[in-house]
Amino acid sequence: NTQPLSDIEIARNATMQPIQDIADKLEIPSDHILNYGKHRAKISREYVEAQSDRPNGKLILVAGITPTAAGEGKTTTSVGMGDGLSRIGKKVAICLREPSLGPCFGMKGGAAGGGYSQVVPMEEINLHFNGDFHAIGAAHNLLSAMIDNHIYWGNELELDCRKVTWGRVMDMNDRSLRQLTVGLGGVFNGYPRTDHFDITVASEVMAIFCLANDLKDLQERLGNIIVGTTRDGKDIYARDIKAVGAMTALLKDAIQPNLVQTMEGTPCFIHGGPFANIAHGCNSVIATKTALKHADYVITEAGFGADLGAEKFFDIKMRKSGLKPDAAVIVATIRALKIHGGAEQDKLGEENLKALEDGFVNLKRHVSNTRKFGVPVMVALNSFSADTQAERDLLLGLCEQAGISAVESDHWARGGEGAEALSQAVVDMIDNEPANFEFLYNAQLSLWGKTRTIAQELYGAEDIIADKKVRNQFEALEAKHGDLPICIAKTPLSFSTDPLLKGAPSGHVVPIREVRLSAGAGFVVVVCGDIMTMPGLPRKPAAESIYVREDGEIEGLF
Ligand code: ADP
Ligand code: MG
Repeated sequence: NTQPLSDIEIARNATMQPIQDIADKLEIPSDHILNYGKHRAKISREYVEAQSDRPNGKLILVAGITPTAAGEGKTTTSVGMGDGLSRIGKKVAICLREPSLGPCFGMKGGAAGGGYSQVVPMEEINLHFNGDFHAIGAAHNLLSAMIDNHIYWGNELELDCRKVTWGRVMDMNDRSLRQLTVGLGGVFNGYPRTDHFDITVASEVMAIFCLANDLKDLQERLGNIIVGTTRDGKDIYARDIKAVGAMTALLKDAIQPNLVQTMEGTPCFIHGGPFANIAHGCNSVIATKTALKHADYVITEAGFGADLGAEKFFDIKMRKSGLKPDAAVIVATIRALKIHGGAEQDKLGEENLKALEDGFVNLKRHVSNTRKFGVPVMVALNSFSADTQAERDLLLGLCEQAGISAVESDHWARGGEGAEALSQAVVDMIDNEPANFEFLYNAQLSLWGKTRTIAQELYGAEDIIADKKVRNQFEALEAKHGDLPICIAKTPLSFSTDPLLKGAPSGHVVPIREVRLSAGAGFVVVVCGDIMTMPGLPRKPAAESIYVREDGEIEGLF
């Protein structure tokens, strides 16, 4: 039987170390390790908040080329590099996002790496991980309940029922909840009004949770959430509803970063997981800071392609946290680049040098984009078994010609050993090319100007356009919120707003449909296209084939 092992089988065969041993590698005192079973822990808030004077290690961002159905492997590469750095003797920590329950039961595929580069315990990380998402959902829904309750008991704030923008959330893919009417059934059930559910990762509470520097900051930001307006357009805040103290109480434990390990025993913080479209798509600032205070090298991942993920990591997360990145790694695969060069999805197993050469423009654009932030960039060629030698030589040659450093990495098949060369190359790059980090745009630029800068500088667009109604929204926000950074929500599948335009399109125009203010998180969401904040399940959901064996092991999950 030569059937390759599935991710979950590989993960299950791993020998895990007690979580205290993992914490020891980072010299976190045992008093501050809050155990959740044997192999998971949170690090106490008191301890985390007391470390702010310690120096930071080097921060390495892992981002990717424009995603395709072929899969790029950013998480797998982040894990592989963590193990690779450990193997070459570095003190390292990885920081990743927490997976959402929704996708677990939809499309098969875990969010904890793959092959021999995974974080464990895999089932616990993928299902209800340390209760964080439930706490975030509860905090969100408490505010929702208090809004309707406020209206029920006389509506002193004069909230306009038609203009309540704060919906409800649940950590499940459930399309039936996208739009609904609440308060039906008579006077005792409140005022009927339309409402909506988002998936928990799309909650503004999630974005706030991930951008807060500490508990106090979290509480302040929660207060700034706008829940709706009065009839004459005055904003009503979460603090006006008096929900903030109780919301913070629900989040007090969740805000403590979670520690787990890779299959090779490298420490990994997994904490927070906001959407990468209407939010910024990276793990919590608190986890990243904790990692930086305890490791010499910290590897962290940004969702989607670098045009969205890295841009938001730099322009939102770095701006809000005051952190500075030292290097970026762009993950590319030959398979995906072939798709960018026009190859058919079902012919990726065949050598196709022409498509690879044509698709290289996508990688090249992401590298030059990322360099605009003043960080040195390394390409990680995540190798797949179907890649041919001629394809590898071609891609590495194209990179060299273009002045791009690239290293092939085989961590999916070989674990940290397969990523040693990549890890060493990144360490050397950090030593030889100190970063000179800068934001893409200045906070003083207008909201429209910031959006245009992103579109022109990173997407290769000619310009941005919007209807008068949307331009008026921009103008209205400018006065009070003009200094906020922009969070673009667009298709991750292209540099343009057309998911079918692969490669590196230029000269296109980016149409803006809508602008939304996330006043608590502290960014302005610019929506360019259809954005789904409550996904649905596919025709044949993965949930249908999941079951629990007699010995208690879960089958069918990944
Ligand atoms: P991303 O973080 O970019 O979304 P992941 O690291 O989660 O991608 O990987 C997506 C899927 O691709 C996972 O199932 C993983 O096992 C698989 N994968 C990643 N790298 C490889 C590789 N080199 N060979 C085979 N499968 C891979
Ligand atoms: Mg990932």
